[in-house]
Amino acid sequence: MQITMAGFLFLLLAVNSIMALRLRDRKRTDIIRHLRNMTLGVAGIIVPEMVILLTKDRQIAYCAFTFYYIAFSWYAMMIFRFSVNYSGYKLFKSYQSPFLWIAMIESAALIWAMFSERFFTITHARWYEHVYWISRGFSMLYVFGIVSGLALIGAVVVLIIAASQSARIYRPRYSGVAVIIAVMAVSSVYSQVRQQPLLVQVICFAFCEMVIVYMAVYYAPRKLNQRAMQFVADKLNDGIVLYDDEHQLQFVTAGYSDAVGLKGMQGIDNEGMYWTKAISEANVENAWNGRVMSIVRDDGTYYYEIQHRALDEDGKLIGSVYWIRNVTESIKNYGEMVRRANFDELTGIYNEAHFHEMARKVLDENPDTDFVMTCSSVEKFRVFKELFGQEKYDDYLIRTAESLRTGLVHIPNCKYGRIGEADFYIMMPKEAFDPQQFLDAIDGVAKAYSTNNFSLIVKAGVCEITEPSQDMLAICNKASMACDTIKGDYGKQIMWFDESIQKESRLRERYNAELSKAIEHGEIQIYLQPQVDKEGKVIGAEALARWVHREDGLIPPAHFIPFFEMNGRITELDICIWRQACEKLREWKEKGRDDLHISVNISAKDLYALDIYEHYVSLVKEYGIEAKNLKLEITESAIINDLKQHVQLVERLQEAGFEVEMDDFGSAYSSFNMLKDICVDVLKIDMKFLGDTENEERSHAILKSIVDLAGELHMKTIAEGVETEEQLEFLKGVGCDIYQGYYFSKPMPVADFEAKYL
Ligand code: C2E
Ligand code: CA
Ligand code: CA
Repeated sequence: MQITMAGFLFLLLAVNSIMALRLRDRKRTDIIRHLRNMTLGVAGIIVPEMVILLTKDRQIAYCAFTFYYIAFSWYAMMIFRFSVNYSGYKLFKSYQSPFLWIAMIESAALIWAMFSERFFTITHARWYEHVYWISRGFSMLYVFGIVSGLALIGAVVVLIIAASQSARIYRPRYSGVAVIIAVMAVSSVYSQVRQQPLLVQVICFAFCEMVIVYMAVYYAPRKLNQRAMQFVADKLNDGIVLYDDEHQLQFVTAGYSDAVGLKGMQGIDNEGMYWTKAISEANVENAWNGRVMSIVRDDGTYYYEIQHRALDEDGKLIGSVYWIRNVTESIKNYGEMVRRANFDELTGIYNEAHFHEMARKVLDENPDTDFVMTCSSVEKFRVFKELFGQEKYDDYLIRTAESLRTGLVHIPNCKYGRIGEADFYIMMPKEAFDPQQFLDAIDGVAKAYSTNNFSLIVKAGVCEITEPSQDMLAICNKASMACDTIKGDYGKQIMWFDESIQKESRLRERYNAELSKAIEHGEIQIYLQPQVDKEGKVIGAEALARWVHREDGLIPPAHFIPFFEMNGRITELDICIWRQACEKLREWKEKGRDDLHISVNISAKDLYALDIYEHYVSLVKEYGIEAKNLKLEITESAIINDLKQHVQLVERLQEAGFEVEMDDFGSAYSSFNMLKDICVDVLKIDMKFLGDTENEERSHAILKSIVDLAGELHMKTIAEGVETEEQLEFLKGVGCDIYQGYYFSKPMPVADFEAKYL
C-alpha cells in the first residue's frame, strides 16, 4: 500500500513538474517564475513524504519530517510572494523579505533540532489498517505553523482585495486562487490538529498547486475569449446558429431574428432543418455565386448568404454551424445600381455605356451579319425647350423611347439607346433596316410635337458597319457625323455616312487643333463686303471672317464657322475679328473717314460666353472709336434662344450708342412674332427672299411687307445677297434702305476695299 501511495505521489510530482516546465507567457515572466518556485516547493513537500511512506527507519523518517516542515515553511512563503506578484500589489512587496528571513531562521532551527527532537517527535500509528509515521509537534512547531498560516492568510487577503477591485470577468482569476490557498491552509491545520498522516495533506497540496497553475495561466484568458466571442456574436447583425450532433440548438446570436427577418426563433426551432432544407433546395438559379440563395416568403423574396459548416472531430460529427446573413437589401440595391448604371433615367432605355456594351456583344456574336448604326437627333432642341419647356421636351423623349421599344421589338439583334440630350442610336441588321419606315417612325412622334410656329425636326445619320471590330464609339461617331452634316439643311432628313464625311470630320479636327496658332499668326482675317445706300454710295461694310491658311490657302467661313459654333470656340475667333474691325475703324477715323461703319457678326454662343455689353463698351473705349460706327449683327435664331435676356441686352447696347442689326431676318420660325418684343435698329433681310426664283412673286410680297413693317416700327432694312440689277431695282422700289451683295462686290481683302472705296 505504501509503495502504491509513493508511486501515486511520484506521479503527482511528475505532473506538477511537467506543468511548471511547460508554462510559457512572455508577458508575465515574473508570475511564471513564482509558479515554478512554488512547484519546486511542492516537490520539497512530496519527496520527504515519499521517504516517510517508504522508510521503516525512525532516524530517516525524522529527517524526512524535518525537511517536510522546512519545505512547508518555504512553500507558504512562496505562496505569499506569488499572490502579491500575481495580484500586482507592489505595496506588499516590502513585506516579502521578513517572510524570507523567517523561513531561513525556521529552516536553520529545524536542522539544528533534527537530532534533539526539540520541536516534534514521531511515532508509528495505525491508520485504516496501515502503519504510518506520524509526527506530534511541541509548542515551538506550532509557532512555526502559525507563521506559515499567517503567510497563507496574507496571501488569501491580498487575493481577495485584488478580486474585489478587478473587473467581474477577472474575479475568478483571483478569488479562485484565494479559495485554493484557503483550502490548503485549512487542510494543513486540520491534519495537524487531527494528527493525521501527512499523506492526505500532501496530496491535497499537489492538486491545489495544479489548480493554481491552471487558474493563473489558463483559466482567465479562456474565459475572456469566450466573453469576447459572445460580444462579437451579439454585436454582429448576422444570425449564427450552432447545433449539436443531434440537431439540438446550442447557441444563437442575439441578432438572429432581426438579421434573418424571421419572426422569433423561426428557422431554428425545428431542429435546424429549416436551413438544412433551404440549402439542399437551393438550385443554381437562386444561388448566386454559390452562396446567396433566395427564399420566397409571404412578404417578399429574401436573399441570404449562408455559410454552413459541419463540425467534426476525428471524422465524427459533433455539431453544425450556420452563419446566416440577410443580404436582401444589398442585392436589391445592387439591382437598382445596375439599373441606374445601365439605363437612361428618363426613358428607361439603354444609356450610352450599356448601349455600347450590348451592341458590341451583338456584333461579336454575329460576325456573319451586316449591321447598320443609326443616329437620330432633334434639331434645335434648345429652341424647342425654350418655347415649350423642359417637361414637354422630356415628354417627347419618353414618347420616342416608347416608339422604339414597340417598333423594334420584333427585330432580332436590334439594340438602341439614348445618348446625350437629344440623340437616339439604333443598331440593327442591315436587312431589317428600311430607311423610309425608319423616317416615318421618327417623324410620327416629332409631328405630334410640332405647332404652327415651330416644327420639331429630327435628322438621322446612318452608317453601315463595315469594320465590326472598330471601337463602338467610333462607329457611333460615324452615324452622328453623317447626321450633323444635314443639320440646318431643310431638304435632307437622312444621311448615309461615307468617306467624304469622315474626311470632313478629320479636317475639322485639324482646324480645331490649329485655331489658336492661326489667330496668333494672323491667319484669321477680315474680308470686307461693301454696303450701299439708295444713292449708290458705299456707307460701310460687313466684316466677314476668312482663314488664310498657310497650307490650304483661303478657307471660306462655311468650312469652319459652323463647326466652331458647335464646339464653342467661335468666341475666340469672333474676338479676333472684332478687334480687327475696331483697328480699321480707328485708322479710318484718323484718316477722317468716320462716316464709314463696319458691321460685325455676333454668334449665339458669344452671347453666353461673354458679357457682350461690357466687352463692346470697353472695345470702343480702347480703340477710341464711335459706338455708332461699329454695328452689331445678331442672328434672329440667336436672339430667339433666350428672348427675354436678349431684349435687355439689345436695349442696353442701343443706349450705349451701338446700332444692332437682326441678321438673317425671316429665316427662323417666328420672325414676325418676335418683333413685338424686340426693337432692333436694322432688319437684315435673309437672302433667301431674293434668291428664290421659283416662288418669286410670293417672296417679293413677303419682302415688301417686311420693309413696310420695318418702316412702321421705325427700323431700317438691309437686303443681303443682291446679285442683279433687277433685284436692286425691285428693292429700291419697295423702299429698302441699304443693299449688300455680289452685284456691288464680293467680300474682299481690307487693302482692296480701302483702295477701291476710301
Ligand atoms: P452672313 O452673316 O449672313 O454673311 C453673309 C454671307 O453671304 C457671306 O458669306 C457673304 O459672302 C455672302 N454673300 C454676300 N453677298 C452675297 C451674294 O450676293 N450672293 C450670295 N450667294 N452670297 C452673298 P460668308 O462670308 O461665306 O459667310 C457665311 C456666314 O459665316 C455668315 O453669314 C456668317 O453667319 C458667318 N460668319 C462670317 N464671318 C463671321 C464672323 O466673323 N463671326 C461669326 N460669328 N460668323 C461669321
Ligand atoms: Ca452677317
Ligand atoms: Ca445674313
